[in-house]
Amino acid sequence: MSESPIKVTLLGTGGPRPDPQRSGPATLVQIGNMPILFDVGRGVVVQTMRAGVALQALRHVFITHHHFDHIGDLYDIGLSSWFAGRKEALTIHGPPDTKRLLQALLTQVYDKDIEWRSEGEPVHGGWPPMLGHDVGTGLVYECERWRVYAEPVVHGHGLDFSPAFLKRWICYGYRLETQGKVIAISGDTVDCAGLRRLAMGADVLVQCCYLAGAEINSPHFERLAKYTLACGDSVGRIAAQCGVKTLVLTHQRPRPDDAMVEVLRQEVQREFSGRVVVASDLDEVVLDGV
Ligand SMILES: [Zn+2]
Repeated sequence: MSESPIKVTLLGTGGPRPDPQRSGPATLVQIGNMPILFDVGRGVVVQTMRAGVALQALRHVFITHHHFDHIGDLYDIGLSSWFAGRKEALTIHGPPDTKRLLQALLTQVYDKDIEWRSEGEPVHGGWPPMLGHDVGTGLVYECERWRVYAEPVVHGHGLDFSPAFLKRWICYGYRLETQGKVIAISGDTVDCAGLRRLAMGADVLVQCCYLAGAEINSPHFERLAKYTLACGDSVGRIAAQCGVKTLVLTHQRPRPDDAMVEVLRQEVQREFSGRVVVASDLDEVVLDGV
């Protein structure tokens, strides 16, 4: 089988706080003409189009966890890809409960809209299903050309949540392997064994990195950096110890200016000698020659 070009596009590099400069978390991996989405944050549909991808080509979305900034436009990607001509199912892979969330959208929020357009605008054809796929850890999807592994990651688990909530709060990172290359998507996490397994030897690690070390200047941010989201004080070390080749930093906080981005880059480069991309929306990493 001939090799297909592999490209990673940072569709959205922001977080939950609305940011005119950054869309919500979403990363696009293209293997040849197969687009695969990781998370569907605010603005993902328009960003996918800006990246030059035909929405109707989408077949697989992988959800890292159920914070609203990562799943907020789930309905939009399903319904807009239908308008664009999608005829086949769109599978939404994610942690336990993904199927339930999707069913709620399709049967309790958008059921009338779907019926209206199916019957009132038959030009779209019938509704091509969105299928929820709750996945465990390990190998979660495999086809001829690529496979995806999920690893549990630690995202707020050390905070004061009840055991009942923590049972339901399951967060993943993903590792996509194709043609001898590895692309790791950290999801939202602090340093943990799951993150290190998925990042090990990765050609590209798309890593959440909310703050530069210099911005961790209050008890709130100290707690955040320790329990919730990795920051500039740890991501370079993790990438170096895991043998990552290209480290892409995303999930940025809104900032009044970009001066801190350079501070963050230099901080990370003190511990990591590979390539560092402090990503802006629509930045691309092409894997040839990574
Ligand atoms: Zn989150």
